[in-house]
Amino acid sequence: MARRIVLTSGKGGVGKTTICANLGYCMARMGLNVLMLDLDMGLNNLDVVMGMENKVVYDIIDVIEGKCRAKQALIQDFFLPKLYLLPSIHCFYNKKIEWESINKILEELDFMFDYILIDCPAGIEAGFVRAVSLAQEAIIVSTPHISSVRDSDKVFSILNNYDLNSKYLVVNRARGDLILSGDMISIDTIVDYMKTELLGVIPDDDVISCQLMAGGSVYSESEAYQAFEMIANSIHFGVKKIYDCTKRYRGFVGSIRRTLKRKI
Ligand code: ADP
Ligand code: MG
Repeated sequence: MARRIVLTSGKGGVGKTTICANLGYCMARMGLNVLMLDLDMGLNNLDVVMGMENKVVYDIIDVIEGKCRAKQALIQDFFLPKLYLLPSIHCFYNKKIEWESINKILEELDFMFDYILIDCPAGIEAGFVRAVSLAQEAIIVSTPHISSVRDSDKVFSILNNYDLNSKYLVVNRARGDLILSGDMISIDTIVDYMKTELLGVIPDDDVISCQLMAGGSVYSESEAYQAFEMIANSIHFGVKKIYDCTKRYRGFVGSIRRTLKRKI
């Protein structure tokens, strides 16, 4: 049976979709069968990030309405045959979508996958409830900005009302240079504030913006990729290793890097 993990945050634009796509890639590269489920109905962009937008024939609503079978709606990644996407609807859909009808679809697909990664919409309304109700585990994504930390903390409390086995925190867009200079809240401060288990830290990395332009995974030599790989290993093997975003800004060379980054 597949492990179902939802990526949520409350706030939009913190990196849920980015993390969902890149974790999917890392896990599939590790030889795991992964389904990414886009539940950001209407505002979805997981297919765009994955470079699969032009391959969408059927979406999840077509499956719910019986226009096709669940398997027919799946899109297989071009390079990684173990990685699939179940796309969300692109336009506004005014009928109510029950989480139970999506659950039925997932039950049908469950045997094919090791992991089902669920990309949750922003907010804490119906879309959030639907996505979280389908999951067994949750990754709460926060950036090191106070508004994001507060929203993620609220979401964390709301998640206590759901039947989840585990809840983890991922801090995205961490800037090691700013953390060292005291201009960005530290990872420890966020963990203390949220009182939750830290699953990973992802640096703010330009390769992620480039990925969006090209579609597909981030460059495997990049810092961001190393961070995604650590998270995937932690989830699957329980090997807990957190990416240290301050490492390259420490010491003499690090201080030069920091100064240059500030000036450019
Ligand atoms: P969400 O799904 O939470 O709304 P997205 O994953 O769409 O957020 O990310 C919002 C924007 O932030 C995107 O343009 C993405 O490229 C960028 N982004 C996300 N994570 C990072 C990162 N670690 N470094 C640089 N840019 C990032
Ligand atoms: Mg998103």
